[in-house]
Amino acid sequence: MTKAYSYACRDCEGMETCPASVTAESREEVWQLMGHHARIAHGENPDDWDQETRDYLDTLIREVEV
Ligand SMILES: [Zn+2]
Repeated sequence: MTKAYSYACRDCEGMETCPASVTAESREEVWQLMGHHARIAHGENPDDWDQETRDYLDTLIREVEV
């Protein structure tokens, strides 16, 4: 078992119908993948996320065993 970090888009308010989730070895990588996903699937620019949004998203990243 290895520790990893996971983010499920449906946990995010307003994204309940999105099936996407990402899992990676580090929180940094999850952030990259979240940004990539937001760009592709939701047409968002992660560079526009304010601190409040980042703090909120950070609470949604969970530690998992893979
Ligand atoms: Zn999504």
